[in-house]
Amino acid sequence: MSLLSSDTVFHPIRTIDRPRTSDNKLARVTDYFGSNVFDLRAMRKRLSSQDVETLDNVMRFGGKIDIHLASRIATAVREWASERGATHYCHWFQPQTGATAEKHDAFLWFDKSGSPIERFTGAELLQSEPDASSFPSGGLRATFEARGYTGWDPSSPMFIMETESGKTLYIPSVFISYHGEALDYKTPLLRSNESLNQVAVKTMHLLGEKTVSHVVTTIGAEQEFFVIEKQYYDQRPDLSMTGRTVLGHKPPKGQELEDHYFGHIPSRVQSMINEAELELYKLGVPLKTRHNEVAPHQFEVAPIFETSNIAADHNQLLMKVMKQIAVRHGFVVLFHEKPFAGVNGSGKHLNWSMADNTGRNLLEPGHTPHENIVFLTFLCGTLQGIHDHADVLRASIATTGNDHRLGANEAPPAIISAFLGDTLDRILNALESGKTEGLSAERVMLDLGVSHLQEVAKDNTDRNRTSPFAFTGNKFEFRAVGSSTPINYPATVLNAAVASGLKKVNAKLEAKAKNGVVSPEDIISVLRGVIADTKKIRFEGNGYSQEWRDEAARRGLSNFPNTPAALEVLSDKRKTEFLVEGRIFRSEDVASRMAIQLERYLKQRLIEINCALELTETAILPTAFTYLRELTTLVKNTQELGIESGAKDVAMILGKETALLAHRIQLLRVAVNKLTSGDAMEHDHLLPTAKEMATTIYPQLEELRDASDRVEALLPRDLQPLPTYSDMLFGIG
Ligand code: ADP
Ligand code: MG
Repeated sequence: MSLLSSDTVFHPIRTIDRPRTSDNKLARVTDYFGSNVFDLRAMRKRLSSQDVETLDNVMRFGGKIDIHLASRIATAVREWASERGATHYCHWFQPQTGATAEKHDAFLWFDKSGSPIERFTGAELLQSEPDASSFPSGGLRATFEARGYTGWDPSSPMFIMETESGKTLYIPSVFISYHGEALDYKTPLLRSNESLNQVAVKTMHLLGEKTVSHVVTTIGAEQEFFVIEKQYYDQRPDLSMTGRTVLGHKPPKGQELEDHYFGHIPSRVQSMINEAELELYKLGVPLKTRHNEVAPHQFEVAPIFETSNIAADHNQLLMKVMKQIAVRHGFVVLFHEKPFAGVNGSGKHLNWSMADNTGRNLLEPGHTPHENIVFLTFLCGTLQGIHDHADVLRASIATTGNDHRLGANEAPPAIISAFLGDTLDRILNALESGKTEGLSAERVMLDLGVSHLQEVAKDNTDRNRTSPFAFTGNKFEFRAVGSSTPINYPATVLNAAVASGLKKVNAKLEAKAKNGVVSPEDIISVLRGVIADTKKIRFEGNGYSQEWRDEAARRGLSNFPNTPAALEVLSDKRKTEFLVEGRIFRSEDVASRMAIQLERYLKQRLIEINCALELTETAILPTAFTYLRELTTLVKNTQELGIESGAKDVAMILGKETALLAHRIQLLRVAVNKLTSGDAMEHDHLLPTAKEMATTIYPQLEELRDASDRVEALLPRDLQPLPTYSDMLFGIG
């Protein structure tokens, strides 16, 4: 029955208690920002200045914490958390399920006399041992040796999560096996940061920047999402089981009027975002912007950028908190890449750059020739990385949901290319053409126009939305990342790719170095070579156009249309060598991750198919038959009385459509049973099975959907068995 009928009860607007100061005035953001984080301010009150300094250094530049310091920190953080009402702690980690995981333990203990005390030891802080056997390992381990450990990651601060009824201390953690294999998304990111750091510091030294001791990567992840009424969500098993609608007739209005983007945020949604922001501010997540997106009921929030590991944790927190808070407002937030057909999907643009230990952004074009050389070198290193590792970058964003976006003329195409903007493109072309050859570096910079480099930021205000990898002023924006994807994995591959690109540049620079430093003229001649080498990856035009697809094919760029095809490159050792060389993964890890992703793809598609079969068989078809019975009775009655009603025509059409739907159901059932029979889902057969799924089975689901949507369109409103697209996408109060 349609929810638009009289029993539809929308959630009233929820007012939230804003924090107040001790004299009961409204608190400022700066009063409560980070109040649930064990940050430097909190540490200084409870640890010696030497301990704080050590921990701060480890947080910023890496390093180990010994058990004695860990014990002092454990006591301090337990005191801090208990004072705020926390009763439990948990190691919070990111297994390869795409979600975060946590196992809670109480601080409660007993002393020798049997009295209850609170206890949290250094050993407990450093490590815990959840059962790893139920997390994906991609065939890396047999169940009997499935020991996994979570270990504290001191580079991301601990925090307190509040729920309605209690508080828990969260300890950001890595998840590794007994033999040290990374079983999670965080460990590889930390390793890739370390790898890029080493290479980039070397680059800086070769450029004469000898005081640079550290380079970090920075990320600001713009997050898109849909908001729908929870009561609709609860009545759509496809949404609750797969995150998206697998059926649904398109509404009369979609996004064609372009009236939603940057429009007024509906009050109830605003109220939900406000509450989420409040909680996230307390958790130290620096949210900055919020606005309506292109599709109806689609929104975006974005934080101020941070170092990539913290940005990755904060993005996970953002998704977790928003999901929790939404329910209090009678909503559900959908992070799926394509919850609704016919309107835009959601992405997660990764704004990415590198900064040195003084905070200087290495992709900032700068004001002087000297700064420009740093900029141009890091730009070229990045281009080299993207050029050499485009296929693995594509694989890093391959997910079931993202298959609906990439190449669908609403998100960047699946072809990886880099957009630089007019000014930079001209500068690189001039450098490459050698017109500046023989000139001093100062002269080259002047000829290219130092002042032009400053124009780069302005130039990019009119940016290219069709590019998967766009330079936007002083950072790159990896726009092809899906909205539900944890950012760690694409960030890991990007860091590793750029580390590899810079390494190549370093080797060329080193060959020209005298006393460890390369002259500006030699740097420019090296960069000229890099620019020529990587040219095919640069594209300034419309990424949606057929001309680009043709041009990309001529240039020899890959275009993997779906997840299994994209993942297949991970079985090519030459293509993944840089991940092994950069010590991000061992080659077995690459294979196991590929298996995990393939298996996830297959399972997700199977769940979608089963959902569609169940909904069509138990909801759409039976409702259509009920209506058909009504119609045929009507036809008989009206014929007897000689009344012309048109009911017969409607009944004929409905009969034809239900017959077609029943036929599609049969076909899909048979095809799926055939696909999954025997050992098709076994480890060694995952790739061919997944490819078969993508190329021959999944299209049949789309055909089934077509048939079902045509039937749905014929059903009267009061018989609709599921909330419709019109219900779900319009009318939030
Ligand atoms: P734009 O309008 O170009 O998207 P914004 O300033 O809104 O520019 O930036 C979008 C995202 O990029 C924000 O999350 C922002 O913090 C982030 N960002 C800005 N500078 C950097 C940087 N140097 N490294 C990583 N992310 C950055
Ligand atoms: Mg942006």
